[in-house]
Amino acid sequence: DSSTAEDFDFFYLVQQWPGSFCDTRQGCCFPDGAGKPEAAFGIHGLWPNYAKCRGRHHREGGGLARAVLGADDAFLAAVGRRGKCWPEYCGGGGDGDGGHQLSPWDVRDLVASLGRSWPTLSCKNRRSFEFWSYEWKKHGTCSNLDPHDYFARALQLRERHDLAAVLADAGIVPSDTDTYPVDRVRDAIAQGTGFVANLECNRDADGEAQLFQVYQCVDREAKDLIDCPLPMPTKCTDRVKLPVF
Ligand code: 5GP
Ligand code: 5GP
Repeated sequence: DSSTAEDFDFFYLVQQWPGSFCDTRQGCCFPDGAGKPEAAFGIHGLWPNYAKCRGRHHREGGGLARAVLGADDAFLAAVGRRGKCWPEYCGGGGDGDGGHQLSPWDVRDLVASLGRSWPTLSCKNRRSFEFWSYEWKKHGTCSNLDPHDYFARALQLRERHDLAAVLADAGIVPSDTDTYPVDRVRDAIAQGTGFVANLECNRDADGEAQLFQVYQCVDREAKDLIDCPLPMPTKCTDRVKLPVF
């Protein structure tokens, strides 16, 4: 229904390196029953995004950007949805909103692939299904896709490029001692996938910067990669680690 279609510009396919999720001070857990995931990038989410927003910079909040917070109602009405940096909870955020809740039935044929490619590493709730349904409610409901297509396309996009293999081809292999120039990481992904991605780093328990998440940009249909239309502020330093998982 085009009258209710979300008017975002592109998706981020966000993939996390499990080694960098796990070796922070907060640690990680493996999904119940599934054991340790393979040493591969796993999906975090497929997030609809605006190419422009009114935040001081792009990642300042999914809700209203800072410049808009505190604005009066007339201004808000004029800015409309474009005052946000991305749409979220398009089906409403509440748990009572049964119609927008992900049902296991929706993804029954994808569960095995999702379990391999989109495992939760959180210790709060070791069920990957809870992670998928959270991502569906927050981001998927804004995607203009039904739940099955949303998850199927995320999986298809991830299958196109094995990011760990792309990095290994450029000599960037997991290590707890080596560091790599972040520009080499960026170039390796651009070369290996054909498109410019954004990178996010976090810090290990010793405070050293490491590659945490790769944000690949994807067209509005969630079918093809595109060059990311805008850079992201990153916590990456000139050289980063790719810790062993
Ligand atoms: P963080 O502040 O940890 O980077 O992000 C917290 C959450 O905000 C993410 O899990 C995601 O749901 C949302 N988020 C952060 N950055 C972006 C972005 O650039 N685009 C979208 N669509 N969501 C984002
Ligand atoms: P977002 O950053 O998308 O807003 O939030 C991610 C949410 O999913 C957090 O509340 C986090 O606790 C939960 N979560 C569950 N499993 C994972 C995981 O493997 N990685 C990340 N980044 N978040 C996870």
